[in-house]
Amino acid sequence: MARLSIITIPKNEEFLRQVAKDFDLNLLNDPSWQSFIRDLTETMYAADGVGLAAPQIGQSLRLIAVDLEGEAQIMINPKITKKSWRQATAEEGCLSVPKFYGPVKRHKKITVEFFDAQGRPQKKSYRDISARIVQHETDHLDGVLFIDKLVK
Ligand SMILES: [Zn+2]
Repeated sequence: MARLSIITIPKNEEFLRQVAKDFDLNLLNDPSWQSFIRDLTETMYAADGVGLAAPQIGQSLRLIAVDLEGEAQIMINPKITKKSWRQATAEEGCLSVPKFYGPVKRHKKITVEFFDAQGRPQKKSYRDISARIVQHETDHLDGVLFIDKLVK
């Protein structure tokens, strides 16, 4: 396994602002993509992060690694299919936005549909911090950064 390098703003802003492409599930049969997925998770933990999206390591693909209550989860082509009306504001940071933190309003509860690292379809609901992490990471796939959503 290998640690990948995380790209940051302002240098890589243009890349981070792209809308990422769907991840082709056939790639999961390729050992080099399986090791890429493991590296994404390893890189997230090595950087003390709780989430890392593929665009942050220079791959414009809809793939994220998240740490939800201490458990690593890979989400391929994630789609948030339900959002609670209730929202909550909390401080966020981002491995691609060095040394900056700020308050962001997010939905308190969400349901997300995705494919796991084995390509199996999953549908899960999360609340509070886990819901926040998934929202932050899926935003990366649309070129959205948390600094776009700061509460004034
Ligand atoms: Zn981020």
